[in-house]
Amino acid sequence: MTKRVAIIGAGPSGLAQLRAFQSAQEKGAEIPDMVCFEKQSDWGGLWNYTWRTGLDEHGEPVHGSMYRYLWSNGPKECLEFADYSFDEHFGKPIASYPPREVLWDYIKGRVEKAGVRDYIRFNTPVRNITFDDTSKLFTVTVHDHTTDTVYSEEFDYVVCASGHFSTPRVPEFEGFSTFGGRILHAHDFRDALEFKDKDILLVGSSYSAEDIGSQCYKYGARSLISCYRTAPMNYKWPENWEEKPLLQRVDTDTAYFADGSSRKIDAIILCTGYLHHFPFIDESLRLKTDNRLWAMDLYKGVVWEHNTQMFYLGMQDQWYTFNMFDAQAWYVRDVILGRIELPATKEEMTANSMEWRERELPLKTAEEMFTFQGDYILELIEATDYPTFDIEGVRQTFLEWKHHKKEDIMTFRDYSFRSLMTGTMSPPHHTPWIDALDDSLEAYLSDKSEVKQAG
Ligand SMILES: Cc1cc2nc3c(=O)[nH]c(=O)nc-3n(C[C@H](O)[C@H](O)[C@H](O)COP(=O)(O)OP(=O)(O)OC[C@H]3O[C@@H](n4cnc5c(N)ncnc54)[C@H](O)[C@@H]3O)c2cc1C
Repeated sequence: MTKRVAIIGAGPSGLAQLRAFQSAQEKGAEIPDMVCFEKQSDWGGLWNYTWRTGLDEHGEPVHGSMYRYLWSNGPKECLEFADYSFDEHFGKPIASYPPREVLWDYIKGRVEKAGVRDYIRFNTPVRNITFDDTSKLFTVTVHDHTTDTVYSEEFDYVVCASGHFSTPRVPEFEGFSTFGGRILHAHDFRDALEFKDKDILLVGSSYSAEDIGSQCYKYGARSLISCYRTAPMNYKWPENWEEKPLLQRVDTDTAYFADGSSRKIDAIILCTGYLHHFPFIDESLRLKTDNRLWAMDLYKGVVWEHNTQMFYLGMQDQWYTFNMFDAQAWYVRDVILGRIELPATKEEMTANSMEWRERELPLKTAEEMFTFQGDYILELIEATDYPTFDIEGVRQTFLEWKHHKKEDIMTFRDYSFRSLMTGTMSPPHHTPWIDALDDSLEAYLSDKSEVKQAG
């Protein structure tokens, strides 16, 4: 009987899995039956923007954490699909840091071409996944919101690609319950215009703090303070942005910091990260990890070592994104198709994971980290027919990007890079990022520059 695979989530990772199987089929392979369950009404995962926060139209926790005016935080040359280039999708070279809508369009282009949409059941959150040791089958229970029915089906394999940047990690600080302004997590941040002319406190020192702060600056926040627990971000900030050591407490309108200083603030944005959260997965199958480059219990970063019919995609901290998900999805596909043989015992798999973990532990610099992840991706793609690409070139691109950020955090998106897939040089964008207030696909792809409105 044909084997059945359940894929949880139609974000970039889940879509990579569908494309991986479709690509094998195109080359003549017999592929299993696939069902992809997606709780949103459209594909693209986080790239499918929603204005909603809190609960969605069906009462489900909103998945989206992306905001208006989000532009790629790294060069698009580092995430380009090896089997579907930007040139192929847009029919012309485009600049290196596209806004969200442009990247969403690109993600969709590949899977539209592959014709895999019919495998997806939209508006269908997965409620429960269990495994039966006797039948060796999974039971996947889902809620179809289109018909408002709950049903279960059996599968031979499960690929969990449900993402891990959706369930906010929310600390509490003294005085929060009586603070007079708005307190929100980055997950609920949508439109920087809300914070125009306001004094903003950002708690945290990673991408979210850096980028949400930059958005608020660009769209007219009066002042920004970001505060850190361990180390400052140390970029050259605009004159109305200061970095402070950790927040100690707030009262109705003032924040107090570990260095004894205090500042009046209007709103607090908690850029404090996300939890890996899989409430729908049975304990014996459930990944437990923090956001890091090597999660344990996953052989090659994808195979659940306790049950090798279960897989996870995209669960690592992400320097590489789309092409890492591809490398993983192709690997998982080939395990399922029997093209890759797994070690005979769990102990062997765990020993291999431990080696990666030991390599991960001493990593300190960004360069060491993206080299580590690049090596990991290379190992995966060498095991499959995913097109090999110039990982060393991606590493160099990441290095230059880091350098540009250090130079000026408000201008790094104005640089251009050469595609490592096609060799095409990206043109500069028509408008410097700081002046480009319209993030629509039309504005980005047009030749017209934006003129910043006075005032
Ligand atoms: C604010 C922000 C900015 C980012 N910016 C960039 C960037 O500039 N460049 C970059 O490369 N990466 C960026 N990322 C990283 C991002 O994680 C990846 O680009 C990518 O979206 C991850 O894909 P994924 O498919 O693994 O997860 P997701 O995109 O999160 O997709 C997971 C999918 O699973 C579905 N799902 C979840 N639970 C269930 C369930 N129980 N049942 C059914 N379906 C379910 C969700 O609805 C979603 O569609 C950013 C992330 C965030 C949060």
